[in-house]
Amino acid sequence: MADGALPREPGASDTPDLGQADTIDAGFVLDKLRTRHAHDAIYTRCGSVLIAVNPYKRMGLFSEAVLAQYKNAHSLPAEPPHTFEIASAAHRAMIHNGRSQAIIVSGESGAGKTESARHMMLYLRYVSNTSPELETRLYGSDPITEGFGCAKTVRNDNSSRMGKFTALNFDPSARIQGASLNTYLLEKTRVTQCGPGERSYHCFYALLRGASPALLKQLRLPSAEPSAYAYLAGGHTGESGGERTDKMLWAELETALAAQAWEGAALQELWQLIAGVLLLGNVRFDAANTDAAAVEGSSAPSVAGCEAVLGLQQGSLAKALTKRKLKVGGDMVEKDLSLVAAGDNRDALAKAIYSKLFDRLIVQINRALAEARNIYSPRATAHVIGIVDIFGFEIFEKNSLEQLCINFANEKLQALFTKTVFAETMRAYSEEGIDAADISYTDNGALIQTLEAPNTGLLAILSEECVVPKGSDEGFTEKVMAQHGKGGIIVRMKGVGPKDGFGINHFAGLVNYGTRAWLDKNKDPLNGDLVVLMQFSDNELLKELFTEPADVAPAAGDRKKFKSTKFKGVTDTFSAQLTDLVGTLDKCDLHFVRCFKSNDQKKPDLVEDAVITRQLNTSGVLDALRVARTGFPDRMPFDEFCGNFLVVPGLGTKAELAGKAPKDRVLALLQKLGVPGQKFRCGKARVFFASGMLEGLRTRRLEM
Ligand code: ATP
Ligand code: MG
Repeated sequence: MADGALPREPGASDTPDLGQADTIDAGFVLDKLRTRHAHDAIYTRCGSVLIAVNPYKRMGLFSEAVLAQYKNAHSLPAEPPHTFEIASAAHRAMIHNGRSQAIIVSGESGAGKTESARHMMLYLRYVSNTSPELETRLYGSDPITEGFGCAKTVRNDNSSRMGKFTALNFDPSARIQGASLNTYLLEKTRVTQCGPGERSYHCFYALLRGASPALLKQLRLPSAEPSAYAYLAGGHTGESGGERTDKMLWAELETALAAQAWEGAALQELWQLIAGVLLLGNVRFDAANTDAAAVEGSSAPSVAGCEAVLGLQQGSLAKALTKRKLKVGGDMVEKDLSLVAAGDNRDALAKAIYSKLFDRLIVQINRALAEARNIYSPRATAHVIGIVDIFGFEIFEKNSLEQLCINFANEKLQALFTKTVFAETMRAYSEEGIDAADISYTDNGALIQTLEAPNTGLLAILSEECVVPKGSDEGFTEKVMAQHGKGGIIVRMKGVGPKDGFGINHFAGLVNYGTRAWLDKNKDPLNGDLVVLMQFSDNELLKELFTEPADVAPAAGDRKKFKSTKFKGVTDTFSAQLTDLVGTLDKCDLHFVRCFKSNDQKKPDLVEDAVITRQLNTSGVLDALRVARTGFPDRMPFDEFCGNFLVVPGLGTKAELAGKAPKDRVLALLQKLGVPGQKFRCGKARVFFASGMLEGLRTRRLEM
């Protein structure tokens, strides 16, 4: 064993692979995970799936010696389960079978997805001799995606508020040549509000705590204290509590942004937009004017600062926030907005600026990566190894459209998961020489169709309701129930009115969704006047962001025109991205890492049974085990079977069976035990039993 390498199994003496167990249920898996965790064995195999339990402590599992151990291993299954093992399996498979590979990492918030994805990247980087250009541009992009896409939540001090797919490109000789990045469904609401104990995106605090007083002044920010800004003041205003302080992140961001060509005026404009968002939040409206909103006198400096950093004409912002232009007859008239509408307008603008900026940062990362690739290896990409780090299934007390999107994504990935596991099961049967042609499994295809079918699916109904005259959340709910209320997949939601929500029977359990504000969430409306204002900004970056095709909500009289350009709601965009992702993944050999939290308090050395059980249900691991055991779920090696059942009186003597080959001994024993032919199959080294058969035999043995 190399110095510092992992022992074959650190203390946990039993099998590190749940897939090899004779029988399987939630209690058994829980017990195994608990025992292994107690021995600091945080990884467990479950067939081809790796279960990773978050240890909430650094354990020295990721050293160079350990990297080398997996790189040089003759047989990966002989090594302890590890994220490096999964990365190595993907890398080896790519080289041997010439196919692209993808690793899907999933789990609850705080379960360790991003950490696991990082470890696997580390491995791939280690074995592939990355070029220095790619090294700085790809791995250097981490602070950017984290700084602008992660935030402190009650569950995780560094919670990724978006899904992420990173693809590494390899040339025909398996040399890493480039990479690309896709992100999904950034949580926009966090920009304008964060709950108690939570923070907005790290970049705001990094700027305030890291930038020089001179820069803050240039950015018109009146204070370095997060509590001075309305969008931050409602949440936790201190450090995130994670491993890097805001100041450290600022320093990392400066380097990382420079590596992506954010320099000089462009960099200044970027931070002006971030400052603009903070200043927008401080624009308050006079509470006395509920019908005709007006900016409060004390907010004048914020408005002026905001106009300055956003490159807008003096006096233009207050007007655009509080009034709306309408066409009446042939004339344009200005209509006052209500206090509430003006507040919504302000927040919608802040969210639009931030999310468009985020998208631009990702585009820029991809541009820099493409450039690095051209420098290093202009040959065509032969294969890809992709890593998906995506939000796990969510069941909260109150669930809304965000949860539906996340759970929809999980249903799609679960479908890939079961399909892969089933294919593997069939391969295992065929390797054992067992005919399994008549075995099938139940999938979640019907549910996916209920959600995404063109025209009749739930998401199509939602987008249609966004454009019909007098469309409403209630109307949408009614139409969904009328279309799907009888199939058993979408059901009435207990405790609320029939027009206020519904339940969906997901693979992970029943989730109740309240449908209030779904139309608005799907439209994500941004007043057209504000879009035009941004398009005339002197801030080149801002101008560009808003000149790209924007989804502007239809003005009251403009519905027909809008419909003809085909409405695209938030869910339509997400659904299209998801179809793309699944299409990519479908062409890859898939590997799965399921991350589990050990407890809800982020504590080391503590396993809470209820927390693990919750995740077993929602991770689909048990389902996959069931699929993996379709047909003949229980199995036993020939020797073990003989060892167990030769002791049963009346089954013949050892001498009688001694001369026979192992398989014949098993067949003879089975015959004596009276096991019907359709209840078992003999493979090359193992005997497989139909559900309940092995259990019955064990009971009989105990009773004799
Ligand atoms: P989210 O969905 O909120 O983004 P996540 O699943 O990506 O959550 P991570 O950010 O990867 O979760 O992990 C949360 C925290 O748990 C980390 O900041 C780290 O403190 C700890 N952690 C996770 N995995 C490990 C590990 N393998 N070793 C040590 N600590 C870990
Ligand atoms: Mg994460």
